[in-house]
Amino acid sequence: MRDRFSVGDVQISPDHYIGGKRVSSPETFETRSPMDWDLLLGNISRGDAKTADLALQAATDAFPAWAALSPKERGAYLHRLADLIEENKDAIAYAECMDMAMLLESLQLRLVPRGALNFRNYADLAIEHEERVWDSKGTHNRVIRMPAGPAVIITPWNAPFMLSTWKCAPALAAGNTVVLKPAEWSPLSASLLADMADKAGFPPGVFNVVQGYGAEVGNALVSDPRAKRISFTGSVPTARVIGKAAAENVVPFTAELGGKSCLLVFADADIDAAAKKAAGQFDDSGQVCMAGTRIIVEESIAEEFERRFHEYTDKHAMGDSRDKATTMSAMIHPIHIARVEGFVDRARANGDTIVRGGKRHIDGKLWYEPTLIKPKSNQSEVVQSEVFGPVLTFQTFKTEEEGVALANSTVYGLSGIVYTGSRERAERVGRMVRGGTVWVNTFLVRDLTAPFGGIGLSGLGREGGHYALEFHSDLKTLQILE
Ligand code: NAD
Repeated sequence: MRDRFSVGDVQISPDHYIGGKRVSSPETFETRSPMDWDLLLGNISRGDAKTADLALQAATDAFPAWAALSPKERGAYLHRLADLIEENKDAIAYAECMDMAMLLESLQLRLVPRGALNFRNYADLAIEHEERVWDSKGTHNRVIRMPAGPAVIITPWNAPFMLSTWKCAPALAAGNTVVLKPAEWSPLSASLLADMADKAGFPPGVFNVVQGYGAEVGNALVSDPRAKRISFTGSVPTARVIGKAAAENVVPFTAELGGKSCLLVFADADIDAAAKKAAGQFDDSGQVCMAGTRIIVEESIAEEFERRFHEYTDKHAMGDSRDKATTMSAMIHPIHIARVEGFVDRARANGDTIVRGGKRHIDGKLWYEPTLIKPKSNQSEVVQSEVFGPVLTFQTFKTEEEGVALANSTVYGLSGIVYTGSRERAERVGRMVRGGTVWVNTFLVRDLTAPFGGIGLSGLGREGGHYALEFHSDLKTLQILE
């Protein structure tokens, strides 16, 4: 076991959490702060195939007793964990802010409390989620939801704490044990979640965290037949690799992937509200899967919209994410900002017009300026591919049909944002825009009982509400002759 290290006042274990104990690996990897890349936060245990084996065995051993508890008994553990998240809200927020530069205030007010809510929501939902019971053809029938077994949960580097809780809560509530592997670029908050699960008294092996690289410990976890569910959030290329491993073992797999969502603005909309929301897509420096990165505006209001958009964008402030005045954080990693630069450089070379931004805020540092690009054509790479940075495109349309066609013209379909003053159009266009979630005149409002997921290359399966509970269960139809 390695010593804990400090991030501010927060003490963090660099080790895995397996079978209720901290476990080290001989190798480590570094985690650094995007706000100051010279600042080494800690050296984290770098899991391998042996780590995956240990964790899956612990989860397999703990499964029968956890699955045998009633939803109410399991719910009590989840509520205790939620209490601890609330008690430790500031520590989690601070560690996550330092680790991946998300704005501290947004973590404190929004994302960490949402983590607690995810556990509370699933604790209660699993109790309420009733089995279907009916009589037909002389038999008494019921559908029984049986816990499936150990669930492997793989999370990305953006919003890691919230996303881990979003994915672990339904698995645990449904009666599965969990092996969580967070992304190697933001490993800290998962280690804190393990501390809290330990304090909440989860039986050893019910909740495990392993740290390390996707291609190493991640790959070993998803390829192992002891994993009975795989719940993944991340990129399309990784989904393809994990999907093949899931297929090999015939294991159900959900994939929450990237997006290239539209922000479709009609002339009858509240132009100011739409322009403000468009500038708001630079929040978190655009490292948000659901961000409306393709602004598509009705031609007759395009000039007015663009003027207001620039006014709102001018108000963004790049800086230290602990500072309340900061609205745009540093980007997660030097490799990622170089990737974003690559997209903009290729757009420039392609003849797309860089209207604003298009460069780092300070040479050598990880902030990228809010960037707006008018593409040469709808086929430009920057329109068609997920950049995952503060880079928006701007296009116009003349008719509703043309606007919807542009909105639906990528391989993705995670979400969409529509601005219109017409209720009829909201219903009509809301149905036509391709996406697992479409918001009209708003964005990111989330009802935890609603299904969430993507269409096309944005994903497979649905999480949220009872949809995730069902994913984590094996359904049985029991028929008894009356
Ligand atoms: P990524 O695919 O590179 O990594 C995601 C996770 O997969 C990491 O934990 C990584 O270690 C792991 N991994 C990589 N290779 C693996 C393998 N062979 N086997 C098992 N695990 C493996 O993605 P990322 O760069 O961390 O995240 C950014 C992407 O995630 C973006 O495309 C973004 O849109 C998407 N995302 C989607 C949602 C959503 O809800 N749809 C939410 C957040 C992020």
